[in-house]
Amino acid sequence: MTPRSGAGPRPSGSAAETRLRVDPVACDGIGLCALLAPDVIELDRWGFPVVVRRDLAPREVKAARGAVRACPRRALWLERVTSLSAAR
Ligand code: SF4
Repeated sequence: MTPRSGAGPRPSGSAAETRLRVDPVACDGIGLCALLAPDVIELDRWGFPVVVRRDLAPREVKAARGAVRACPRRALWLERVTSLSAAR
């Protein structure tokens, strides 16, 4: 039997995860992002965003992408993290 291409787990070291990052200096603390991606971002007691989901599922990536686009201060961004860099 021939293995199907793309089937099964990814080889070790090639997996990448998507993470949402916040620049707390640039953020205005109004909280629009938490409205757009409530499963990913919560607000602290002062109204500043806290990313509560480390590795985002595809549905969460879509919501986070909307929050990134809507952020008026460009204080949010998505980054791809490989398993090697995630271990640091
Ligand atoms: S939308 Fe941007 S500026 Fe507003 S709270 Fe979220 S990260 Fe901060």
